[in-house]
Amino acid sequence: MPELPEVETTARLIRPDLVGRVVTGFEVEWERTLGGVTRRTLARLLRGRVCTAVERRAKYVLIAFAEPEEPEEVRAWLVVHLRMTGRLVHSAPGEAPASHRRFGLCLGEGRGEGLRDAGRIDFLDPRKFGRCVATTDPYDVLPELGPEPLGEGFTTDSLRAGLASRRRQLKPLLLDQSFLAGLGNIYVDEALFLARLHPLTSSDRVSRPKAEALFAAIRAVLTEAIEREGSSFDGFYRTPTGQPGSYQHQFQVYGRHGKPCRVCAAEIRRIVVGQRGTHFCPRCQRRAR
Ligand SMILES: [Zn+2]
Repeated sequence: MPELPEVETTARLIRPDLVGRVVTGFEVEWERTLGGVTRRTLARLLRGRVCTAVERRAKYVLIAFAEPEEPEEVRAWLVVHLRMTGRLVHSAPGEAPASHRRFGLCLGEGRGEGLRDAGRIDFLDPRKFGRCVATTDPYDVLPELGPEPLGEGFTTDSLRAGLASRRRQLKPLLLDQSFLAGLGNIYVDEALFLARLHPLTSSDRVSRPKAEALFAAIRAVLTEAIEREGSSFDGFYRTPTGQPGSYQHQFQVYGRHGKPCRVCAAEIRRIVVGQRGTHFCPRCQRRAR
């Protein structure tokens, strides 16, 4: 399931195919992908408008659109949630859609008589849980989201205060998008290992040095995962260029249960926490008493 590094990679790689292009039409194969927005509203919000930015917030890609004459003023957004298996890919003019295409955004380049076909951005989604929602305000669509872990609003002090004010086990707390945005099962397990924290530790029992270690671990894991264009291991996640990410080769604990810890050689364990498989080293990550 795409988490922050995979969504960031998607936004970065799809950006050059979108920014500066004008929306000329839509191809909708799976109505629910539009998240309840009608085709008429979709057309009203996006048709004829130019893409001015492709951003990421948490696990969402936010695509901004403006009038070509007023590119400074964003008039509409397409909020893309990849969920389990969604992917954004660019298709060249005339290229047939890849399999499992649910939605296509047809693009042009230039103006008036000079408008030429710039292909499409296709949303592929085998499992059909993903969404591409057009809106005037992305915050009408997004759920409550905590700070960006790589943003300036997230600091060792804010993390310490957040941990101390809650009495929740670290694993479910770090998965809670309203606490911290963008982390999912993989990167929480990896960050907890790097910080040497047991996933069931109560957040109010995390010491100051451990909170500092967790802050550094979250940033280190996410930064390296973005550099490696995310993690591909289940056959679903591919970058917009069709390449797999390579962070899966760096996994210390995720999916490694039964194998020896790379640090201490103890056997990596897997437990279920809040219905999520949770991987840790019982020797490196001792539970605080
Ligand atoms: Zn270990």
